[in-house]
Amino acid sequence: MNESLSGAATSSGPIVRMENVNKHYGPLHVLQDINLEVARGEVVVVLGPSGSGKSTLCRTINRLETIDDGAIYIDGQKLPAEGKALAQLRADVGMVFQSFNLFAHKTILENVTLGPIKVKAVKRAEADAQAMTLLKRVGVANQKDKLPAQLSGGQQQRVAIARALAMKPKVMLFDEPTSALDPEMIQEVLDTMVELAEEGMTMIVVTHEMGFARKAAHRVVFMADGQIVEQAKPEEFFTNPQSARAKDFLGKLI
Ligand code: ADP
Ligand code: MG
Repeated sequence: MNESLSGAATSSGPIVRMENVNKHYGPLHVLQDINLEVARGEVVVVLGPSGSGKSTLCRTINRLETIDDGAIYIDGQKLPAEGKALAQLRADVGMVFQSFNLFAHKTILENVTLGPIKVKAVKRAEADAQAMTLLKRVGVANQKDKLPAQLSGGQQQRVAIARALAMKPKVMLFDEPTSALDPEMIQEVLDTMVELAEEGMTMIVVTHEMGFARKAAHRVVFMADGQIVEQAKPEEFFTNPQSARAKDFLGKLI
């Protein structure tokens, strides 16, 4: 992995480990005994019907949501409940959402430099230089002085990816990153994600883009009703799903 892109791992074990994770929303058992390990450099695509818990799973990994029991480890370190250690571990987990969530009143460049300056105490000149490198990589360097609303959805989402990468995360989470985009902009974002995957970034991607899953995923994790129902290599999953739920899900895609 390009050292400038991803934070160096400190353990030799998985980058993400979820151990018997349970979560409820009131009576709803939204995550049911989830066990999941994601190795360094692995690209895991999470598939499943709407409401199956995919977003909640992602959100627990950077502690946007609490868990009721079980444990989550990032590069061998247990995610703490709060405090400075949490902030540090969170910086290791980049997240890209369906709605780009850029800071509306900051320029594209400022959107990318803010985290490193505030959270990692990187000096402005260095943060600017790193941000420009990342903005070039995702193809929007010439937009650096604009506000988010002046960019297309696809450009905004690529800025959101650059912003997450600026923190040098150990893992990148993508929660339906192309679902809010006009069709003609989906591919440019997927291409950026494929490039990241090819460079060895550890990624967990919730998506309905089966082309991406086939091309970039090392493993498909299929969820239904808060459970991981099956997991397999993409070609196995798509050609020979084992569970009735997965067969039903794939049948509805055509
Ligand atoms: P997915 O991303 O697979 O569509 P989610 O993780 O968003 O699924 O949601 C899983 C279930 O949890 C759904 O039934 C949803 O309505 C419910 N849910 C999600 N967030 C909340 C919340 N903050 N409070 C209560 N229920 C929620
Ligand atoms: Mg979701």
